[in-house]
Parts: sequence; C-alpha cells; structure tokens
Amino acid sequence: MLNRRTFTRTGLAFVGCCLTGFAQTPSAGGRRQVTVGGRRVKTVDFHSHCAVPGVMELMGQTTPTNGVNGALLLANDRLKQMDAQGIDVEVLSINPFWYSVERDLARTMIKIQNEKLSEYCNGHSDRFVGLASIALQHPDLAAEELEEAIKKLGLRGAAIGGSVNGEELANPKFEPFWAKAEELAVPVFIHPQAVPEFRGRLQGSGILTNVIGNPLETTIALSHLIFEGTLDRFPNLKICAAHGGGYLPSYADRSDLGCITLSQNCKPLKKKPTEYLRQIYVDSMVFSSEGLRHLAAVCGSGRIVMGTDYPYPWTTTSVDHILNTPGFSNQEREAMLGTTAMQLLGMRS
Ligand SMILES: [Zn+2]
Repeated sequence: MLNRRTFTRTGLAFVGCCLTGFAQTPSAGGRRQVTVGGRRVKTVDFHSHCAVPGVMELMGQTTPTNGVNGALLLANDRLKQMDAQGIDVEVLSINPFWYSVERDLARTMIKIQNEKLSEYCNGHSDRFVGLASIALQHPDLAAEELEEAIKKLGLRGAAIGGSVNGEELANPKFEPFWAKAEELAVPVFIHPQAVPEFRGRLQGSGILTNVIGNPLETTIALSHLIFEGTLDRFPNLKICAAHGGGYLPSYADRSDLGCITLSQNCKPLKKKPTEYLRQIYVDSMVFSSEGLRHLAAVCGSGRIVMGTDYPYPWTTTSVDHILNTPGFSNQEREAMLGTTAMQLLGMRS
C-alpha cells in the first residue's frame, strides 16, 4: 500500500482521507426495514458515488468538500439517508476523471483510490461494497488493475465511463479489459459523463449536458458494443448501464429495423440487436412506474438493479418506485431491490 513516505519520495502530497471518519452506529431516526410480501429483503443501491480525497490533487485539481459534491465524501449523513430510504447496502463507485492522465500517474492514482475504497468497504462490509476505478485509457494496465482490485482488494467489479477520450468502448483496443472482466465474471458499471462532442449544443437552461447528454452517451456506448460485435465476442460480460440504459431501451425496436432497412451498413451479428438488451443489466433510474414497466418489458425484470445516484439528488424514493409500480410479482420486486445485484456482485444475502 502506498504510504506517506511513498508520496514524499515521489514529490506528491497526500491529503488525509475522509473515508475513515464514518460513524459506525445507525442514525437516531432508525433504519427502514423493507419487506416484500411480509418478508424482509436486503436492498442494494447499485448506483451511488463517492470520492477519495487526495487523488484529484495529484492532477492539480481539488476534491470538492462542500455542497452536493462534498457529500461524495463518506460523511455520517450518508448512513442516515440510507437508513431513511431503506437502503441496506450501497455499491460505491467513482466517476472517472483520470482518462487524460499518462500511464505512471494513472497507475498511482488508481492504486490509491482502489486501496482506500477497499479499506473502507472491508471495514463496513454490512453497508458498502466497492467498484474499482480503472485507467481504461491504458487497456493492458486496466486489465491488471481489475484483476488486482478483485483478487487482492476485494472490490466487486469496475466502474467505467461511457467513452474514453472520445474513443468508443467498442474500440478493439479495449478488448484486453473486456476479456479480463469476462474471465473474472465481475460486473462492469458503465456511467456516462455527457457526450463531450455535444457539449456546445447542450449549453443553456435545463442542465442538458446531464439530462440529455448522460443518457445519450450511454445509448451511443451500448449501441456500439452491440453493433460492433463486442457483446458477441464477450457474451458472458456482466455490463450494467446507468440511468436505465439511457435512451436505448426506450426506442430499441429502431435498432432492429436499421439493419433490415440499410443492411449494407451493418456487420453480421449473432442475434437481433434488441436481444442484446437482455444480455446486459440496467439500473432502475427511470423515475416513473410506466418507465420501469417498459424497462422490464425490454430488458427483463431480472436485469434491473436499483439505483439512486446518491449523493446527487435525483431521487430519494428508489425503493418505493420498485415497491409501488403495478404488475410485478413479489419475486420480481425482490430481484430489483437487491437479489439480482447481490448475485452480480457475489454478495451473500
Ligand atoms: Zn451517477
């Protein structure tokens, strides 16, 4: 593990990590116990964010410590929010901000980040599990980092962006990473960071970089993974796409018709494009009952895991969204609330 001496030797400064300042006792307000059909179920939030202080600083940036971004740090309030919402376990991930970084520094940053996250999660294993950070801009290094994170640090999968410096995840250069993720049988959470190329058009009112840009990037990333044959070459990948898989499940049938209408522009695939949507996982962040019902119709209820996006204040009612959407069996609700995520993450129920 890197220590203060290592940092001093390399001329790097390290700021104390707030991950250790977490209160271990439940909030005074009590913990909501979620039941389905009278039976207590363990709930898992697959989509929540955190930050490890001191890592952004290695890039000359500053880890935010106030406002919503401050809540990225694992402060006491996080547990209170989880207890109030009925979330038993959060799956912690860190949105990539390091894809521009050269190899040696990237390796150092990822090592610190994964070790700190692991240390924290292992110390609070009843409430938190972690997804590894990966320097995907260096694909062979990314594969090594994933293996180390899973085998040595006890992290449960990886979190990556929806593109890497303008390159698609379906680019063959990233296949060493996909091969390792498939070999290790761990989930890879794809979390978008808007479409950098569209940033100019998404300015103005409505935070469109996030509202539209994020699901758009996921839509593009998943579409390339399907149409370039990546999901054929790695059929056992456990990809989980944020925000309900972006726009793709909402308009999936067009993906099937494109290659019928204009087949000269399509590579041969093993399945209909929409069938790949039953090969991936998506989170439940579509907000309405109708949206969740549609997502289940397209992807399958067994492919949906609960997400909140905490600490970003998109929703505080993810549990109720799943409990109150009409038409699901108790088994389907339990799957979405936690059992599918636990299977994906290799957690005990
Ligand atoms: Zn998010």
